[in-house]
Amino acid sequence: MSETILNKTCEEILEGVLAEFAKLAAIPRPSKHEEQVSDFLKDLLTACGFEVVQDKAKNVIADVPASPGKEDSPLTILQGHMDMVCVAREGYTFNPTADPIKLVRDEKFLTAEGTSLGADDGMGIAGILYLIKNLDAFDHGRLRIIFTTDEEQGMSGAIGLDKRFVSDASYLINCDSEKFGELVVGSAGCVQATFWRELHYVRPDTKLGTNMEIKISGLRGGHSGEEISSGRVNAIKLALQIMRAITKTGKIRLSRWSGGSAFNVIPDSSELVLATDLKPAEVQSICAEMERRVRKVYGATEPNLKIETKVIKRPDKVLHAKDYDLLTNFVELIHSGVYLMSPENPAQVMASANLGVVRMDDNIVELKLLPRGNADELVEEFIEGFNQAAQLCVFESKFATPSPAWTFNPDSKLLKLAEEVFTEQNGYKPERQIVHVGLETGHFVQKNPALDIIAIGTTNEHIHSPNERLHLDTVAPQVKFIAGLLEKIAEIKS
Ligand SMILES: [Zn+2]
Repeated sequence: MSETILNKTCEEILEGVLAEFAKLAAIPRPSKHEEQVSDFLKDLLTACGFEVVQDKAKNVIADVPASPGKEDSPLTILQGHMDMVCVAREGYTFNPTADPIKLVRDEKFLTAEGTSLGADDGMGIAGILYLIKNLDAFDHGRLRIIFTTDEEQGMSGAIGLDKRFVSDASYLINCDSEKFGELVVGSAGCVQATFWRELHYVRPDTKLGTNMEIKISGLRGGHSGEEISSGRVNAIKLALQIMRAITKTGKIRLSRWSGGSAFNVIPDSSELVLATDLKPAEVQSICAEMERRVRKVYGATEPNLKIETKVIKRPDKVLHAKDYDLLTNFVELIHSGVYLMSPENPAQVMASANLGVVRMDDNIVELKLLPRGNADELVEEFIEGFNQAAQLCVFESKFATPSPAWTFNPDSKLLKLAEEVFTEQNGYKPERQIVHVGLETGHFVQKNPALDIIAIGTTNEHIHSPNERLHLDTVAPQVKFIAGLLEKIAEIKS
């Protein structure tokens, strides 16, 4: 072997990978619109001489033969997703299904003009394409390339992928992480849980002379997987606390309760419309006291909380007292927030739940919850508890198809090899990272529980935003890392 990837210059590799990336950037590829990029990848891999499958979900799968003499080593999957999140800066004209991404390069970074860059996960794909165009430059066993669709909006590609494409493989290297030097070794599963019950209303008692609207706003909210442990207050739970505080000294009749926007977003606002026998000033001082309490405990993370009160005209109808009790008891019983930190790593969230939405209409109240767990058993535990609470409070429930967890395997052979190769090449040990969000890897491990997986990537900052940027100096080391790892795997006799 005259020239290997490992002795190519970093400049040469960087230019090669960016050339592949530029071809992807020229093709519009928002999630659910992958036809064009899928065809492009299928044609490209076919032209390389591989056996290629394009499945119903538009995933592209290709089998790559081993280097001579390495045919017996374990089958390894190289995987990335072809879709991207397309967002534009305010005022920038951009049609995500028709316009190419315009690349802007300086010495350190690659960005896009006015839009997200799509390094997530275009860089994963470009790195793989570069490697398979340079197959003579490193030893490798049998490889399978899997490029999936729709990672960003439902993972229908990974979900729809036929089992047979992962069931015969030993290793999977997912190239969809965002930090060079970090090895992702686990991800969370979750399930969308909806609870509802019918409501009965009565006319408000005229003895409850105060009618008020209470508005909670200014909380930080955020992604319920990434931000669940960063001290954010759940607006719906806070609204419940306010009602509990009112009922300590007065009576309450609830007319309306709303809050939150989605399963996976911590609610940053909530609104109550209620009647009470307390004076408006008393309700105001309860709300002011609640603000003080939150500020005392969460001042550093929730500095902008506002609880506003307004006297309004008497609502036409209020909840029957029994319905009020069942609803508030249910919200009280269901856990929202961090539930379990890792026994091995105190900084790692293992299980959490987010009460994301409460909505009341004329006949029904609906609550949306998202429990997450870095083991499927933890999600099951949540469901069990929620169902018990639902039974007690006479709520009905509906669960979406669960998204499986990828549970950390401390005995992972692939992880050991990856740590060895990375440390050899870079002079420092990579960090292990277990994430509390869902990844496609969960779906692969569900299809083949014996599959040994790591997730890696170049350093991509501010993904899913117009500020997305790629650290150019991580591109060549990443390619060398994958090539080095594949060489190590090729030495294994299976
Ligand atoms: Zn991604």
